[in-house]
Amino acid sequence: MTEQKQFASQADLEEKEVTFSRLSEHAWAYTAEGDPNTGIVVGDDAVLVADTQATPAMAQDVLRRIREVTDKPVKYVVLTHYHAVRVLGASAYAPQEIIASRDTYDLIVERGEADKASEIGRFPRLFRNVETVPPGLTWPTIAFEKKMTLWLGKLEVQLLQLGRGHTKGDTVVWLPQERVLLSGDLVEFDATPYAGDAYFKDWPQTLKNVAALKPVALVPGRGPALAGEERVAAGLAATGAFIADMRAAVEAGVAAGKDLNAVYKATYAALKPKYGHWVIFDHCMPFDVTRCFDEVTQYPDPRVWTAERDRQMWETLEG
Ligand SMILES: [Zn+2]
Repeated sequence: MTEQKQFASQADLEEKEVTFSRLSEHAWAYTAEGDPNTGIVVGDDAVLVADTQATPAMAQDVLRRIREVTDKPVKYVVLTHYHAVRVLGASAYAPQEIIASRDTYDLIVERGEADKASEIGRFPRLFRNVETVPPGLTWPTIAFEKKMTLWLGKLEVQLLQLGRGHTKGDTVVWLPQERVLLSGDLVEFDATPYAGDAYFKDWPQTLKNVAALKPVALVPGRGPALAGEERVAAGLAATGAFIADMRAAVEAGVAAGKDLNAVYKATYAALKPKYGHWVIFDHCMPFDVTRCFDEVTQYPDPRVWTAERDRQMWETLEG
C-alpha cells in the first residue's frame, strides 16, 4: 500500500463478460466475472427474477437472455437485500410484484436514499446508463417475515430468511424440488464479500443454515454459478472463512488496544495473502474492516453509509 488508492472502485472501468447458464430444469444464472449476478426461475406460467442489476438499461440485457429461453411474463422480482446495485433495475421487468423481507423493507425506509448515493459514487461502472434509473427508490409491493412460498404453476419457490449476514434482511430463493439456491450476497465465489452492512457474529451460522438445505447448485451474489455439492460447499466455506478471518484479525487488534487505522493496516496485511486475488478486495476491505471494528467495539447494528461518510472513511484509512 505504497501509493494512494483511488476512492473505492472509481478506477475500475473494465467491462465484464456475461454468462447465462442453466442450472436445473427451472433455474438460470446470469453471471459476469465477479460483477453482481441475477438469478432467474422459469416456472410453468411465469418468471421470477432475483436481484435486478443496477439500472433498467442493464436489466434489459438480463431480459434479452430470458427471452432467448422463454416468453412467459416476469411476474415476480425478489430483492435478496436492499443494496442499490441489486434493486435499481427493477422497473425494467415491469413485474406484478416486488418482494422483499420485512427487514429489507425497513432498511430501504431507513437508508435507501443514502445507500443509493453512496453506491453510485463508489462504483460508477456498475451503474451503466444510470440516467435510466427512475427517481426515488425501488419499493417492495409485498414484504414477508421469515418465510414465503410462491407457486409458479407446479413449481414451489421458497423465499427464506435464514439469519443475518451480508445485511439484516438477507433473503435466499430456494427451489426445494430441484435443490437450487439463489443466495444473493450472503455467499460469494472468487469475489470478496462486501461486509460494510454486515453482522459478523451471525453470518457464519447463517451459512450453516444454508448448508443444511443441502443445495446441489447455488447462484452466489458475485462469481460463477456453483454446480454440484462440492462446489457449493467450497463457496460456503470460502465465504465463511473470509468472515471468520476478518473478525479474528479485528478482534485481536481491538484487544491489543489498536485504533481503527492500525487495525485496518494489520487486517489488510493478514488477509491479503489468502484473499487478495478475489475481485473487489481493495474496494471492500476499508468498508468491511470499519464495520467489523464497529461491531466489535460499540455498534451492534451497522451505521448508515452516506457518500460523505464513505469519503471520510477512505481518507482516514487510505489517504
Ligand atoms: Zn449487497
